[in-house]
Amino acid sequence: MKIKQLRLYPVAPRWCFLAVDTDEGVTGWGEPIIEGKVETVMAAVKELEFYLIDKDPAQINDLWQLLYRGGFYRGGPILMSAIAGIEQALWDIKGKVMGQPVHQLLGGRVRDKMKVYSWVGGDDPADEIAQIKAQQKLGRSTFKLNGCGKMALVDTHKAVDDVIERIGLIRSTFGNTVDFGLDFHGRVSVPMAKVLLRELEPFRPLFVEEPVLAEQYEQYSVLSSSTSIVLAAGERMYTRAEFKRVLSRGGLGILQPDVSHAGGILETVKIAAMAEAYDVTLAPHCPLGPIAFSACLAVDFVSYNAVLQETSLGMHYNTGADLLDYVNNKDDFTITDGFINPLTKPGLGVELNEDAIYQAAEQHTGWRNPVWRHQDGSVAEW
Ligand SMILES: [Mg+2]
Repeated sequence: MKIKQLRLYPVAPRWCFLAVDTDEGVTGWGEPIIEGKVETVMAAVKELEFYLIDKDPAQINDLWQLLYRGGFYRGGPILMSAIAGIEQALWDIKGKVMGQPVHQLLGGRVRDKMKVYSWVGGDDPADEIAQIKAQQKLGRSTFKLNGCGKMALVDTHKAVDDVIERIGLIRSTFGNTVDFGLDFHGRVSVPMAKVLLRELEPFRPLFVEEPVLAEQYEQYSVLSSSTSIVLAAGERMYTRAEFKRVLSRGGLGILQPDVSHAGGILETVKIAAMAEAYDVTLAPHCPLGPIAFSACLAVDFVSYNAVLQETSLGMHYNTGADLLDYVNNKDDFTITDGFINPLTKPGLGVELNEDAIYQAAEQHTGWRNPVWRHQDGSVAEW
């Protein structure tokens, strides 16, 4: 079997789907994307196509090394996301050829079902409480919320009080019937993170995500020594080498590599194994589409330390399309009491509505990160 062509489809809300066609009629799908940089990632995939045409898609390990090392320059969000999407498609092909789900090809499952969590969007506590109540009716009890909005490098007592009031209200409304992680989204400086983590501790968040930016990773161990809150990060880390530096420095309790940003399925499994050696758990980042989500599940079901899986289902960024709008086998993605079963169809286990994808690509208008500014006019982290 040989790879014949790569087809790219930028689609709403802010995703990109890749089809890798073979000369024997088997097509694999992957999701190479950096949110807000779809054209750039597509260009990177196009450049990598040169290394793939007429190659055997079964040789995933060698092709990965070729794409990673062959270009001399490596790493970073764009290149690693391009490689990730291609690698996912190669696993999809392999699974379809062998008639097996990807988790079987990776050695088989370590669990029967995987716990998933979804986003509760917005910054208005009344709205967030209503959303949590709606999700509780669907049997879900684990969520992620924004920890805070815009936060100055050194912010006011009022800004801190507003955060505490909002999170406190949510905790007092639901008591211990829900668990929620708080995403600081890299918006918080090191000095403010110290303050917020201390103030938030009584409300027992499940974790705080990106308490400071990934480039401040050496601060994770400092922050974790001053709080009992579990710290999480990883969506803005792209290579094994980066994860090695972060893990060896300590401080994180949950690692959140993105299977579409960190080089793909097997690379994330390797990162997960490295985390396991440090007794650090895994919660793959996935505000993305159904192929990326299926790739995450392939990792979760073979990684002992996987504790939570993010899903973009109903996410506030999903304008124009939601997770299952491009999926035919929607029932396979049913979440029951907060858990999802393994996808058992061959390959990644997602059957795509290709007409919906082609149509969405024609209507694609792009997505850009919002631009925020501080009171003094300087750029704020979004
Ligand atoms: Mg995040």
